[in-house]
Amino acid sequence: MDTHKYIQALPKTETHLHLEGALPWPLLQAMHPGKYASTPASWAPDFRFRDFTHFETELLGYAADFFISAQRYHDCAQAIFSDRLARNIRYMELSFASGCMDFMNLDGREVCDAIRSAVPAGLEVRIFFGIHHDGYTEKMAPMLEAALGWENLDGIDLHGTETTPLGHWAQDYWRRARDAGKFTKAHAGEFCGPDFVRHVVESLGTQRIQHGVRAIEDASVIDLLRERGISLDVCPISNLKLGIVPSPDRHPIRQLLDAGIPCTLSTDDPISFGNTLEDEYLFLATHLGFSHEELAAVARNGFRAALVSEEWRTANLALF
Ligand SMILES: [Zn+2]
Repeated sequence: MDTHKYIQALPKTETHLHLEGALPWPLLQAMHPGKYASTPASWAPDFRFRDFTHFETELLGYAADFFISAQRYHDCAQAIFSDRLARNIRYMELSFASGCMDFMNLDGREVCDAIRSAVPAGLEVRIFFGIHHDGYTEKMAPMLEAALGWENLDGIDLHGTETTPLGHWAQDYWRRARDAGKFTKAHAGEFCGPDFVRHVVESLGTQRIQHGVRAIEDASVIDLLRERGISLDVCPISNLKLGIVPSPDRHPIRQLLDAGIPCTLSTDDPISFGNTLEDEYLFLATHLGFSHEELAAVARNGFRAALVSEEWRTANLALF
């Protein structure tokens, strides 16, 4: 079978997606047709961001022009979900940023409920609140504390900029989140090396890592991830366009898998990278020589990592 058709037909999950970064271009364009007449230069395959600030500045510009209300979050989520269902994606985890609640003066609980109310039948969705390294401010503390009790919130995630020093608030907050029944994730091992991966595992007790690819630079960190059964939610095209890997054939996902680390595939911020989940699978096939069976093994990792009942997991793994 043709690889593209094989990828389309694979049952898939997507567990590393920023809602603001997944805003479908046509929705933004409809609001500001003149400003956003053409798609971003960053969609070109050979485009590289200068650094994280370059990437984040563009992304926050799109977000500020669109996410002015909880209703907009609902509209965006609805468009994302129907697109993913059509691509045979059955389970998703997506985060929305506390920094956007702060900047746009939105009520995080209303936004969380608005996202939840957009979930269609046939798609399992888990919602995460993403918090920056210095995000626990005096202004945001009441919302972050209340978030641990929001019934529609499934977990928390530590967002970039990864090089900003991580405040002392985080260790206690991550522990209390788990005590409150929330699943804890963190971005690490992208702009910072394996030491920061170790830090989020040992100090925060993070249960899954977004990116984490630079763990490959330290065998003792690989051992730590394997011992704790921690999966990495990997986004190769994001890693390439942000300069984490110098070229597609140097991406370490195969070495991570060979070392016994479960890796899943996601798009991260498709409004900035111009990628689909199918593109990520095609990246593995084209640049790293993944066979169809190896692509299916990566897809199965997503179902194994999913926060679902064992019945749902078993039923979906039986589709392969
Ligand atoms: Zn991310």
